[in-house]
Amino acid sequence: MKKIILIKYGELFTKKGNRNFFVTKLEQNIMNKLKNIDIKIHKNKSFMQIEFNDKDFKIINEKLSKVFGIHAYQVANVVDTNIESLDQEIIAIAKEKDFKTFKVETKRSLKSFPLNSMEISKHLGGVILKNIKNIKVDVKNPEVLFKVEIKKDKSYIYTNTYYGLGGYPVGSQPKGMLMLSGGIDSPVAGFLSLKRGIVIDAVYFEAIPHTSIEARKKVESLAKKLVEYTNEIRLHVVPFTAIQEEIYKNCHPAYTITIMRRMMYRIMEGLAKKNNALVIINGESIGQVASQTLTSINVINEVTNFPIIRPVACLDKLEIMNIAKKIDTYETSILPYEDCCTVFVPKHPVINPKLEIAKEEEQKFDYQKLIGLAINDTFTIKITAEETKKFEELL
Ligand code: ATP
Ligand code: MG
Repeated sequence: MKKIILIKYGELFTKKGNRNFFVTKLEQNIMNKLKNIDIKIHKNKSFMQIEFNDKDFKIINEKLSKVFGIHAYQVANVVDTNIESLDQEIIAIAKEKDFKTFKVETKRSLKSFPLNSMEISKHLGGVILKNIKNIKVDVKNPEVLFKVEIKKDKSYIYTNTYYGLGGYPVGSQPKGMLMLSGGIDSPVAGFLSLKRGIVIDAVYFEAIPHTSIEARKKVESLAKKLVEYTNEIRLHVVPFTAIQEEIYKNCHPAYTITIMRRMMYRIMEGLAKKNNALVIINGESIGQVASQTLTSINVINEVTNFPIIRPVACLDKLEIMNIAKKIDTYETSILPYEDCCTVFVPKHPVINPKLEIAKEEEQKFDYQKLIGLAINDTFTIKITAEETKKFEELL
């Protein structure tokens, strides 16, 4: 019995002319994830086949469950497309299983096959009943569902389906810069943008010595969780201490967060341009804190024309937390290290800031110079699934 993994594409069915591009990306991503495993991939416009060794299925399954662009996959037995072969194979599969009720479902894309889908199901059901004792058909709630796909040359029979993450293959969109703090929201924002096929670089603002190296390690751990869904993440660490201190020293306490975030966006724009990213991504959620009211977003966003996407903008915290738990970032996110925002957070941040006041307040120190320095002094850590390579890189 020859078994293969049959991969069904996610949202790619909406692509007509450039479907090939998406399928090729998906193939590259799967190859990359399975590069140390002995496999062979064959692809066509509507599905992909992976030849593999049985012993590797557990690890392959784990990896495929984290590749965007896959709707579902099945471990299927490959059969020559003729009735005799289908009969033989379905008996062999059924004999390996222990069940009392079953159903056969057929999909026939080879329209010239002599029986139609219903007739094939009926025929194969009869074959199973004839060869295995004490079982019956249950169309509503079968213990085993035999699925049969009749295609040209080779057909497939399988009894289980694993669901993938859907979305588009990472790399089918260019790069975005993810603002990655140690919190719950931004890793989820990263995950959701990877799902749209966006390649991500991450940016972390740190204010040593007000924040600890452990806080940075926490962000690295989060990036490492995210990298399982992509090939590599470059984590840019921005030295933000000088700017934070100047804001704290010079600006009205109620406006420190508004101004700090205006500075972050200015730096983000600089880093995005330097690293060929086309969009900034963050974990802002409307109304969550004072800096995320629509008035605040409006005043903060005013510093840049660069597109900013906020994948969790309209989710509530519980929904975000559920995703964080699913992608296993939650436990890391709730570790108690101080972030640069929390260290400097004022008692009464303004909820409805005025643009004119924000502009006035930030004129109280030479932020242009400090922004240039912060961008220049940003260093990069390369996060890969295998190991986290650390290197200082002058941008
Ligand atoms: P999270 O939103 O990730 O749970 P948080 O709630 O502590 O963390 P907020 O103060 O809500 O963060 O900030 C909103 C968004 O701004 C974050 O989701 C993140 O994208 C970005 N951000 C905040 N602090 C930092 C930082 N130190 N470095 C990088 N990005 C940051
Ligand atoms: Mg938040």
